[in-house]
Amino acid sequence: MNYLKIEHEDVCNGTGLRVVLWLSGCSHHCYNCQNPQTWNPDSGIPFDESAKQEIFNELSKDYISGITFSGGDPLYENNLDEVLKLVKEICISFPKKTIWLYTGYSYSEIFRGQSSCLSQEGLNNFKRREIIKLCDVVVDGEYIDEQKDITKKWAGSKNQRVINVKESIKNNKIILYCD
Ligand code: SF4
Repeated sequence: MNYLKIEHEDVCNGTGLRVVLWLSGCSHHCYNCQNPQTWNPDSGIPFDESAKQEIFNELSKDYISGITFSGGDPLYENNLDEVLKLVKEICISFPKKTIWLYTGYSYSEIFRGQSSCLSQEGLNNFKRREIIKLCDVVVDGEYIDEQKDITKKWAGSKNQRVINVKESIKNNKIILYCD
């Protein structure tokens, strides 16, 4: 898994002051994507122990609200195993910090057909669900340029939803964190 950069005190990708991990790799290729340099999974540098320590050092600071996974797509197939491991470790080490995740995949698509892990895509979606279940907020869906909406606080186009994951799982339907 490669990443482009780690931001320490970001205010544009979730609530409060956040660490943001910009991961490489995205297969959605949305028209007018702001970060096409992240599409290639080989762009950036390998995510290693020192990158993890950099994130953990930031998360240990009282004034940091949590971490946001962005990219690229954190749920790109090559990222799934390492993102799942990292999210699990963050949940254990920093249970009070929030985890946000931006993905071009649709939350509904990922949670549809939950029983099928027989295909590679089924297995990938299983891993995507495991990651999402550990997040607090997921912003889902591809960026659709014709639906661009600069008034949306945490998303770029009208189709993208800012989803409250814990409430959505509890109620078995999508509950928005905000419009
Ligand atoms: S999902 Fe995000 S990173 Fe990927 S192409 Fe679309 S806007 Fe760009």
